[in-house]
Amino acid sequence: MYKRVLLKLSGEQLSGKFEGGIDAELGSWLASEVKGVAESGTQVVIMVGGGNYARGAQLAGHGIRRVTADHIGMLGTMMNALALTDIFESRNVPTRCLSNIFAEQVAEPFVHRLAEKHLANGRVVIVACGIGRPYLTTDTAAVSLALELGCDVVLKATKVDGVYDKDPTHNHDAIKFDHLSHDQALSDEAIRVMDKAALGLALEHDLPIVVFDALEAGNIQRVAANEPTGTLIG
Ligand code: UDP
Repeated sequence: MYKRVLLKLSGEQLSGKFEGGIDAELGSWLASEVKGVAESGTQVVIMVGGGNYARGAQLAGHGIRRVTADHIGMLGTMMNALALTDIFESRNVPTRCLSNIFAEQVAEPFVHRLAEKHLANGRVVIVACGIGRPYLTTDTAAVSLALELGCDVVLKATKVDGVYDKDPTHNHDAIKFDHLSHDQALSDEAIRVMDKAALGLALEHDLPIVVFDALEAGNIQRVAANEPTGTLIG
């Protein structure tokens, strides 16, 4: 069992059965899955994406500067983080939302010691706005935050149950890896499960990443207990 994990949830996953926005029913189901992890004694940090609202790289153009587009993307993650925090608390999972963009009216600021305090008190910490700087994705922000908070592993939730040698949704003969080194994941152009900046940072600091399907019942608990699930990069 890991002592502290960082769970990365993408915006697309949080939108569940909807085209965009957040699927609160799915959020509620995720709360019950994470509750099991927290109650078993593993501390949980969650980095939420915002692709269900906006992605900076896609939004930039026609006058919208990339920096502004990334700000908008980060604010999208804020909407997910706020909704998820409320949903978790309504399911009796003590949770705090900490923001990496100044937004005192809506969330506590991300302060390293404050995050540590909440985690030590058994609260789930959901981080909004990535790490607060443009030209990054929440995958890279997740690795950076995991390093900052001394997490044992990054649990990267995806639609599929691990890393394949080619896209399994279009290729029936795609082969799943149980284990990959950081180097392999970085150098193989066909592996697009995480951006290379995130993988490079994880390689540099030897931080393991598990790519897995969070929407299968019990899977979040399995990965947090360090049971073989999905693909281990590291
Ligand atoms: N973003 C950013 N800095 C960060 C994290 C995110 O600028 O530290 C912006 C970026 O524009 C990104 C958007 O926020 O596209 C939403 O995050 P992401 O695309 O990673 O969401 P996901 O694909 O995981 O839903």
